[in-house]
Amino acid sequence: MALIVQKFGGTSVADPRKIKAVAGRVMAYHDKGHRMIVVLSAMAGETNRFIDLAQQMQKMPDPREMDVILSSGEQVTVALFAMAIKEAGLDAISFLGDQVKISTDSMHTKARIKNIDTELIQKHLDEGKIVVVAGFQGVDENNDITTLGRGGSDTSAVALAAALKADYCEIFTDVEGVYTTDPNIYKAARKIDRISYDEMLELASLGAKVLDIRSVGFAKRYNVPIHVRSTFTDTKGTWVVKEDKEMEDMLVSGVTYNKNEARITIAKVPDTPGIASKIFWPISDAGIVVDMIIQNTRAGELTDMTFTVPKTDYDRAMELVEKIAQEIGAERVTGSRDIAKISIVGVGMRNHSGIATTMFQVLSNERINISMISTSEIKVSCVIDEKYTELAVRALHDAFALEMENVPDE
Ligand code: ADP
Ligand code: ASP
Ligand code: MG
Repeated sequence: MALIVQKFGGTSVADPRKIKAVAGRVMAYHDKGHRMIVVLSAMAGETNRFIDLAQQMQKMPDPREMDVILSSGEQVTVALFAMAIKEAGLDAISFLGDQVKISTDSMHTKARIKNIDTELIQKHLDEGKIVVVAGFQGVDENNDITTLGRGGSDTSAVALAAALKADYCEIFTDVEGVYTTDPNIYKAARKIDRISYDEMLELASLGAKVLDIRSVGFAKRYNVPIHVRSTFTDTKGTWVVKEDKEMEDMLVSGVTYNKNEARITIAKVPDTPGIASKIFWPISDAGIVVDMIIQNTRAGELTDMTFTVPKTDYDRAMELVEKIAQEIGAERVTGSRDIAKISIVGVGMRNHSGIATTMFQVLSNERINISMISTSEIKVSCVIDEKYTELAVRALHDAFALEMENVPDE
């Protein structure tokens, strides 16, 4: 008998028929004697619909009110799910984040979980119920509803699993696990059987949205095994666990893409000490997260500064940067929303050289221009024109033979 947290994403609970099917799956586990906690997302498309509605009211919707509407999608699915279980003759009870309670900070629309009370859930589990919890939401110290950022239900599920000391957390979604690249972009993608927390953190941070990065962070910190699998089949998925010796020692384990960033360039900046802090201080002060930064040296005392910010913060960032550029006497500011960051990830890169060079060669063979590059021990990222995303992903997947297991030669 185990304590299991199962999370179902938006496409898994997209309509009443699917909700009933998912309820059936959970009841089968319950019948085997497991203690079940279920975390649900909103029905597919609902969260986007709420954002659209809010923007019809206010150009920059009030963050507190935004969270009141955003959290409503999950409120619907948990209630429907509990009803489906009751209709089938078992007992279930649904809870919202503030009822549980899932305490967060007050950063509306991107709040962080600080603490989870487990008492209420334990009590109802002890009474033999299936406990259903709304994903993606919490409550701050002012009793205001908060949400955790897009894709945040994964984080709710893993954080609950950690707090309840669950045996494992299953993330049910619309693909059969974590693949070498997005299987919806490239059919040749291969399912990975087991992957370490660190490698998964890297994949998630570089765009593999199959798991929200913060959920992997929680899993690593509290050692919660995650099983990513399909809602629509019984096939074994991908286990995300602590690194061990038997794990595939892949040279490159995956190719990711991220179309959610935009590029800003400040040209001909006076190259003097303190200039970077003058530029980036106001941006971070506005809560905008800068990802890649590149500085080029020109002949003379001038330099160019290029960096990326989330697409959703692009307008605000441009406004700020144009002001700063004037203050510091830079020549001009340019930018583009139409970029994509393509990355290759793999712990095997630590011990092998030439991987980055192969990546540049592959992109060059496809006549794809690279506008920014960044590397770390286990990844290489290139910023390219957004329209070449799919082409780049496929070419890199082929070049590193990811459809097969590419264990490096010793
Ligand atoms: P859910 O609504 O269940 O949370 P998401 O849409 O957030 O589902 O995540 C699943 C999607 O992640 C898949 O449909 C797939 O297109 C995408 N994805 C991106 N990269 C990967 C990857 N490396 N492996 C599997 N899926 C991926
Ligand atoms: N419903 C939220 C979203 O669409 C949270 C989630 O599905 O994880 O982002
Ligand atoms: Mg998701």
